[in-house]
Amino acid sequence: MTTENAYDLLLKGGTLLDPASERHEEADVGVTAGAIAAVGVGLSEEGAGRVIDVSGCYVTPGLIDFHVHSYWGVNPFGFDADPLCLSTGVTTAVDAGSAGPVNFLGFKKLVAEVAKTRMLAFVSLAQHGVWTTPGELEDLRFADPDGSAATVNENPDVAVGIKVRLSRRIVGENGREALRLAIVAGEASKSPVMVHVGNTIISMEEILNTLRPGDIVTHCYTPQAPSVVDENGKVLDAALRAKERGVIFDVAHAGGHFDFDLVRSAMQQGLLPDIISSDIHGLLLSRPNPVKDMPTTMSKFLPLGLSLDEIIAASTTNPAKAIGWQDRLGSIESGRAADLAVLEVIEGAVTFQDSVGKELASDQRIAARWTVRAGLVYEGAG
Ligand SMILES: [Zn+2]
Repeated sequence: MTTENAYDLLLKGGTLLDPASERHEEADVGVTAGAIAAVGVGLSEEGAGRVIDVSGCYVTPGLIDFHVHSYWGVNPFGFDADPLCLSTGVTTAVDAGSAGPVNFLGFKKLVAEVAKTRMLAFVSLAQHGVWTTPGELEDLRFADPDGSAATVNENPDVAVGIKVRLSRRIVGENGREALRLAIVAGEASKSPVMVHVGNTIISMEEILNTLRPGDIVTHCYTPQAPSVVDENGKVLDAALRAKERGVIFDVAHAGGHFDFDLVRSAMQQGLLPDIISSDIHGLLLSRPNPVKDMPTTMSKFLPLGLSLDEIIAASTTNPAKAIGWQDRLGSIESGRAADLAVLEVIEGAVTFQDSVGKELASDQRIAARWTVRAGLVYEGAG
C-alpha cells in the first residue's frame, strides 16, 4: 500500500546538524525521488519505503572531501573512490588535479559520469595532470594555463578550479613561474586556484601574498618547510593576513602534511582550518597510513580543539562555498539532492596518528553509520 506524500526514505529520531542554516536540533529528514522532501520533528512514517532509526546519531549534509585523487587506472595517484567514500559519509569528492586539459574529458566520462559519489575536480595547470616521477612541471613546457582555463570554462558541471603543486621535486626551479601561470589560469577561468605547498623553493610569504581571496592553500599545516610557522613556531603574519583577506586554508592531511604539534600551535595562534580534507590517493591506500578516511581526519580535530559543529562546517558548507556550489551542496534543505551523512560520535579511548610519527589520544571519534547519496542508502564502515 502506498500513501500519497509518503517518503521513499525517512531518517527518524536523529539530531540534525546543518551548519549552513545554523540548525543543531532534533529533526527527522524525509527523502523522496532522490531529493530532500521535508525536515522537521515527527515526520509521518506512514507508507514510507524505508525508515531508519538514527536516534543517537547526527544527520549532517553529505561530507565533501575537498582533496582526493580519484582518476583510477589513468593517473598514478588514482584510487577507486566509491567504496571508500560511500562507506564513510562522503557524498562529494573533489579531485585535486589528477587531470589536466589533455585528459580531462576522460576524467569526466570514465570517473565523474560513472561514479555514484559526486565527483568534482580541480584541473591541473600541467597538461597531463599531477604526476609522480618526474614531477609534472619540472619541465615548464607542460604548463598550459590557456588549456586549463578553457577546460574549467567548458566543464562547469565538473571542473571547479585550477590546481598547481609547487614542491621542489614537482616543479624543480619553476615554483615562482608555475604559481604565476596558475593565477593567470585562475583569472581566465574566474575560478579559485588550489596551491599545494610544502618543500617549496619560494617562501611561504611569497606564496600567501600572491594568492587572491578565494584561492586555496592545500596542505596548510604541512611540516615540510617552509610552512605557515617560522623557525620559532610563530605563525607567519602573512598567513594571518592571507586568512583575513579570504585566502582559504585546506587541511589535505595526506601521508606527509599533518603534524599534531604544528596544527595545535597554529590553531592556538588563530590559524584555524577553513576546510578539513583527507588527500586520500591510491599510493597512500596501498600501505598502512595515518589518514584512513574522512571521518578519521575529522575526528583528529576534536582533541585539537574544534567543536563538532565547526568540524562539520569545515567538511560540508565551507568546501561548498569555496567552489561556489553552496546553492547545491553542503546544506540540508527541502528540494536539494538528498546527499546526507549519518554520523555517530563514539565515546571511548582511541589513538590517532599524524604524518610524522606522533600520536594523539582522544576519548571520542566520529564514525559514519550511513551515507545517503541522491536518496540511495549505503552502510557506513562505523
Ligand atoms: Zn593531493
